[in-house]
Amino acid sequence: MIYLDNAATTRVFDNAVQAAERAMTTDFFNPNATYKSAVFVNDNLENARKQIAAVVGARADELVFTSCATESNNWVFNNGIKNKNGNIVISAGEHSSVYECAMQLKSRGYDVRIAPLTRNGYVDLCKLEELVDKNTALVSIIHVSNETGVVNPIKQIVQTVRAKNEKTLIHSDGVQGMLKTTDGISGLGVDYYSASAHKLGAPKGIGLLYIRHGLNISPLLRGGGQEHGLRSGTQNIPYIMSFASAVKEFADSLANCAAANGLRRELCGYFGGKDGYKVIGEGPDNGFILCLCINGIKAEILQNVLHDRGVIIGKGAACSGSKRGNRVLAAMGLDARQIEGCVRLSFFVDTTKQDAMRAAEIINNSVQELRSKYVR
Ligand code: PLP
Repeated sequence: MIYLDNAATTRVFDNAVQAAERAMTTDFFNPNATYKSAVFVNDNLENARKQIAAVVGARADELVFTSCATESNNWVFNNGIKNKNGNIVISAGEHSSVYECAMQLKSRGYDVRIAPLTRNGYVDLCKLEELVDKNTALVSIIHVSNETGVVNPIKQIVQTVRAKNEKTLIHSDGVQGMLKTTDGISGLGVDYYSASAHKLGAPKGIGLLYIRHGLNISPLLRGGGQEHGLRSGTQNIPYIMSFASAVKEFADSLANCAAANGLRRELCGYFGGKDGYKVIGEGPDNGFILCLCINGIKAEILQNVLHDRGVIIGKGAACSGSKRGNRVLAAMGLDARQIEGCVRLSFFVDTTKQDAMRAAEIINNSVQELRSKYVR
């Protein structure tokens, strides 16, 4: 099986499985208890936080563990906005866990402004600049698009926003970006950054919110005061240990992995030389996601055919839902017919060039067969 849907989720690294298992069996104690075995678990928790912080470029006390990035994004929109009368700016390329939060605030009377995308899938920087004003409370721009892999220039966006309003808080959804670009989190200059472990070789159900040092956010959950008093509830130690292990392994594997070394470019070259394929979302530095619009096929049918032939690919965000079309691709100017033919190939550090190129051939052969069978 060649698995090319790593933007949806990844296989958990063996070491990360073992880290979780240890924390569920021998080191199962509650980190908030006071006896020695529990203190040992608490030390493990804080060491995991430090390890993740060092790898992702943040201070340990800036990271709060959450249950997923959806939770982190919701937290920012529900509790992280200081100027309650201010406007909110997001991009048309946001994941639904940001977009729906913004829509919820809009329904409560907030002025929510949406920066359009360029045809290549980047946030339109000029339009974004126009939308930010002296009353902008929050700007939230996705770091790497989960649909196209396009990497938004977050540092530049931060400078632009701050030049117009230094009080505006800036959030970035970093689920597909953390460790997949050369930027460390604090180097981006954002106030908030969300990430999810299951895109990096750790289990589903654990994520984090980066909160810039010195910034106050009101707690997400009140109770026993865990996570610096910001997210009460006994921490998910097994998954946090697994997260820390995976982040390190992911980072250590980057130098020698195909995705970080031109695999996407090669696939673009392969498909670009063939009839009826168009790369959606072009950019120089996006590496882990490739969105292709294929003429004359329906992505869902191709996906099923490929599954039976041992290749798993994606079809836009797993949570976009085919019934709802694809808001992000539509914002890039694709029509319904083009969107129907869009597939997403996404890679992990263990994706080899041989497997990816073999999958590309199987995809192309299957497309030719489908085209000859069905006329859409
Ligand atoms: N944001 C982006 C860009 C994503 O790709 C995803 C998941 O696919 C999420 C947020 C949600 O992450 P989680 O599954 O941890 O809630």
